[in-house]
Amino acid sequence: MNNNYPNLLKPLDLGFTTIKNRVLMGSMHTGLEDRAKHYQKLATYFAKRAEGQVGLIVTGGIAPNIRAWTAPLGGFLKYKFQTKRHKIVTDAVHQADGKICMQILHTGRYGYHPFIVSPSGIKSPITPFKPKLMTVNDVEKQIKSFVNTAQLAQAAGYDGVEIMGSEGYLINQFLVKKTNKRKDNWGDSYDNRTRFAKEIVERTRAAVGKDFIIIFRLSMLDLVSQGSTWDEVVQLAKELERLGVSIINTGIGWHEARIPTIATCVPNGAFTWVTEKMRPHVELPLITTNRINTPEIAEEILTKTDIDMVSMARPLLADENFVKKAQQNKADEINTCIGCNQACLDHVFKNKRATCLVNPLACYETDYLIKATTYVKSCAVIGGGPAGMACAKTLAERGHNVTLFEASNKLGGQFNLAANIPGKEDFFHTIRYFKTQFEKHNVNLQLNRNIKPEELSAFDEVIIATGVKPRELQLDGIGHEKVIVYNELIRKNKLAGKSVAIIGAGGIGFDIAELLSEDTSNNAPDVYTDPKAFCHEWGIDMEIKAEGGLIKANHAKSPREIFLLQRKTGKLGKGLGKTTGWIHRMALKKRGVKTLAGCSYNKIDDQGLHITRKEQDEVLAVDNVIICAGQVSVNALYEELKDKQSCHLIGGAEFAGELDAKRAIKQGVLLGAKL
Ligand code: NAP
Ligand code: SF4
Repeated sequence: MNNNYPNLLKPLDLGFTTIKNRVLMGSMHTGLEDRAKHYQKLATYFAKRAEGQVGLIVTGGIAPNIRAWTAPLGGFLKYKFQTKRHKIVTDAVHQADGKICMQILHTGRYGYHPFIVSPSGIKSPITPFKPKLMTVNDVEKQIKSFVNTAQLAQAAGYDGVEIMGSEGYLINQFLVKKTNKRKDNWGDSYDNRTRFAKEIVERTRAAVGKDFIIIFRLSMLDLVSQGSTWDEVVQLAKELERLGVSIINTGIGWHEARIPTIATCVPNGAFTWVTEKMRPHVELPLITTNRINTPEIAEEILTKTDIDMVSMARPLLADENFVKKAQQNKADEINTCIGCNQACLDHVFKNKRATCLVNPLACYETDYLIKATTYVKSCAVIGGGPAGMACAKTLAERGHNVTLFEASNKLGGQFNLAANIPGKEDFFHTIRYFKTQFEKHNVNLQLNRNIKPEELSAFDEVIIATGVKPRELQLDGIGHEKVIVYNELIRKNKLAGKSVAIIGAGGIGFDIAELLSEDTSNNAPDVYTDPKAFCHEWGIDMEIKAEGGLIKANHAKSPREIFLLQRKTGKLGKGLGKTTGWIHRMALKKRGVKTLAGCSYNKIDDQGLHITRKEQDEVLAVDNVIICAGQVSVNALYEELKDKQSCHLIGGAEFAGELDAKRAIKQGVLLGAKL
């Protein structure tokens, strides 16, 4: 069969071993690495990805010892007895004909516990603990620890290790002046600052022999002040090649960097140029990364550049069969990662097991099972939003007869609105995914169907996923022509003027502020799709002449005057995702959006929005007032049917507060799995 992705699916020969295609499942902490009792789950999670034909897997970070821990009781590999649990993982992956490397991660000053160490004892801005300054003896001990862990990984059956040298972790902390102020052999000159990395690589290679993969994740762009310059990065890459590294993977941005690198707002393939820049300087295979989420994008990168592999972590969480579907030219069946971070990284940062918003089975492969039904039922799903789509798909793939009724003319519900927010276009992928699944599993899709209760009596099961509607505010002047509800604005039923006040600063209030503050003048470059424009806006030096690749940011000012308001006192956007909230807050601030907390709303009239704040009355003289004050459930159909037939209420229709797609999709899948 002619394949659409010849470069993506081409094997990569490393001399002593061959990787079957160019997809690296990049390292991502799932939380399953931390407990011995979870290794069977971890093994199943990876084995599924190996069965899905991914070329090479890298585990989440495993610490070489407890000082290197990410957090207390994190996974570490220091003793021989610990290899037993890893063997479960490597056996499962090998049985599935896959290959797997273990990442060795020493967090240094980024560890969230009191035993942390760092080259100069300087506290990081993102952890509350002050690290111990490493003595020369400590440095030696930690190098030996890396080597010991690599040997144990080899004994456990891994095909190799990835040495984590980027993202601001310990090795990276040695490399740059910002965190390495030492005057001994491990600091000062660049040669000395790279010594820690070089010793680890050289001694690891000597210990594991030549037929074992060593990937080095090299921070090619630190995005912090006093970070490496490009000349320094190249110098280190050459040394790493000489010392026996098999593959160099690209690291972009320290965790403390204040530039988005993987969020939805980052253009696809936004950092490929960095890896490309390295190509002329080394011969060994190079991996590029960040915001590559479809086989088309990956293929384009591999075709247009001499880069050897692409790393994808979250896309493989979202769909374990990503590569297999590409092999079969069925890319439209891929459940695409939308870059939201809501169920993966946000969970990890809250010490919860990672999963995926669009695939709640990820990391729960042994907990939630989707089994073919033994008794086929006729099921009606009412509502084609995230909850309804997820439920209909799961029911149909199990073999039930499913009819999905949607009152509007398209699928997607709230996702249709979200996908119209700049930088969230990837949400359309989820709708496309469900559409193809409905065709594949013969879901009878009925759009423009406002179904009546009496039409549902013949169904064995009725699933009500009728979603939400915007909360109607009881406010003097709410009917004024200045007032626009957020969905009217997104659907372009109404247009906003030159000045607006947004009532409500939840996820949607922020989204609306982002939409309205975007510079859409004719010649404005699209910062959400064009890597150059993105780098220009966020102050990334594409020459990487400046230390850390940082130059002055150039955020375009909002073309409108915007006030974003909430009743609560305190910082706006507190409820936004841990790993993305800061980006939204920062972007709006740079665009000049004014945020006001502790407001009470008095009335809306020709003058604008009248509020009281800090016991002072004021009028925001705006053209429009946009209502983003949350939602209420639409569940009348359920109330009418619940006592008459088997009926289930899910998604926002069940609970609108804190409505989010993560809960809606999970609820849909789990109900679909059990009916
Ligand atoms: P939300 O997050 O619950 O926010 C609603 C906002 O309206 C709050 O700021 C609330 O703040 C205000 N509000 C509530 N009742 C009000 C009333 N009676 N009068 C005036 N203001 C009122 O809801 P949302 O913004 O509609 O978002 C819905 C869900 O979508 C979120 O929970 C989120 O999970 C998801 N989402 C997330 C993102 C993201 O993370 N970027 C983006 C879009 C949507 P005060 O009570 O302080 O005024
Ligand atoms: Fe991607 Fe969001 Fe799933 Fe994470 S939770 S893998 S970002 S879709």
